[in-house]
Amino acid sequence: MKVVHIAFECAPVYKTGGLGDVVGSLPKYQMQLGVTAAVVMPGYSFIRRLHKLPHSQVPIIYAESELFTEELKSCTPRLQANAYLEFNIKALSVLKENGIRPDIIHCHDWHAGLIPGLVKHTTDSFFKDTKTVLSIHNIGYQGNFKKELFDGERGKVVHDLVNARGKRLNFLKEGIRSADFILTVSPNHAREIRERRVGFGLGRVIRAKRGRFAGILNGIDYDVWNPHTDKYLYQEYNRKTVVQGKTVNKTRLQQELGLEINNDIPLVGFVARLSTQKGIDLLAPIIPKLPRRRVQLVILGTGEKKFERTLKAYTNRRFSEWISVNLRFDETTAHRIYAACDFLLIPSHYEPCGLTQMIAVAYSALPIASAVGGLKDTIEEGRTGFLFHELNSETLLNTIERALAVWENPEQYRKMRAQALRKNFSWEKSAAEYIKIYKKLF
Ligand code: ADP
Repeated sequence: MKVVHIAFECAPVYKTGGLGDVVGSLPKYQMQLGVTAAVVMPGYSFIRRLHKLPHSQVPIIYAESELFTEELKSCTPRLQANAYLEFNIKALSVLKENGIRPDIIHCHDWHAGLIPGLVKHTTDSFFKDTKTVLSIHNIGYQGNFKKELFDGERGKVVHDLVNARGKRLNFLKEGIRSADFILTVSPNHAREIRERRVGFGLGRVIRAKRGRFAGILNGIDYDVWNPHTDKYLYQEYNRKTVVQGKTVNKTRLQQELGLEINNDIPLVGFVARLSTQKGIDLLAPIIPKLPRRRVQLVILGTGEKKFERTLKAYTNRRFSEWISVNLRFDETTAHRIYAACDFLLIPSHYEPCGLTQMIAVAYSALPIASAVGGLKDTIEEGRTGFLFHELNSETLLNTIERALAVWENPEQYRKMRAQALRKNFSWEKSAAEYIKIYKKLF
């Protein structure tokens, strides 16, 4: 079976979040199960191209256009609308030029959302036996543009190939309508969508797919997220050397970030895009209320300017010994934070799957998270982490207090850490579930 994954990002070539991790790893594990997999992504002007995913034979194919420039990072609607429409068209043409006729085209998120419609409605017979699958990694981002934003010829494509009615074009909605199967990235998030708890206006279109919608849990790539082999760390460690290894990483990170060097104080991390989704609005107001002699906080994130401004308030001398705010996207620091931290905060309002809780556990930091989406599927309350149900700052603060109480009881912390370390979030099982779904489509 030939499967081509199409996405706007693919780690390590280009990554802005978890989708990059997934597209950079899932195809590799599918290949190990006998599927012929490939990835198509935009040939951005600012990336260093790799022609295969590391540790694999999975080719990365680049769709070319002069629109795939650094300016896209500004998220200007006109630029995004035209560039990603172009990407949808060029992704298909690059496959055809290379004579690649997939059994399955697996589209990821809104950036590839027009492909199912283009495949379905094309008069060209090249893709006539190809089935399309659309994975929704984040239903809150839909690529919903005014049609007038599309330039000249591209405007005509929009008009001819997709839903000609209405003033707007919603990439994700079009994908949901046209794809042969819809997936999201955890069983619990699929349930939330089915039960109308999350939907962002698309719940009805998804529910209309009935038996053609499911949730499969993401995995993490242990070739990348493994403290035993992780070259970004100050010191690598394994299960046997975890206590000593984490102490070295914590001490060095405290030093690097100007925090008080003290292994007895638990270090709590927050690594995320700064958007409301990630619960930064719940965390920011309680920062000054954290018990300063019992906890240190390290934040790494970029995103909405209003949240960056809020967090900057915690960068002055009053906080510098126990709070470190780092407003940038920085792979090295992210790895070091997971290795140094004793806890990781994930107070998301919704979380289709979430990777950081799984990464945290792999690096032996216990997650403190809201009981939503994939967080609920992957964290066992009181055994491998801490979950809270009422999404407000007070409950978050109480849950942090619960975690600190466990830290202050070393036997209890050790027990939870041992339980967490036994968790295995590898891709094997999920990769096989994807293949089962693909096979159902023939
Ligand atoms: P999402 O895809 O919604 O952003 P996930 O939890 O699925 O959230 O994945 C986030 C990924 O992005 C993780 O690999 C995390 O380490 C990484 N990440 C998030 N923010 C940063 C940052 N500021 N610097 C480096 N890596 C980051």
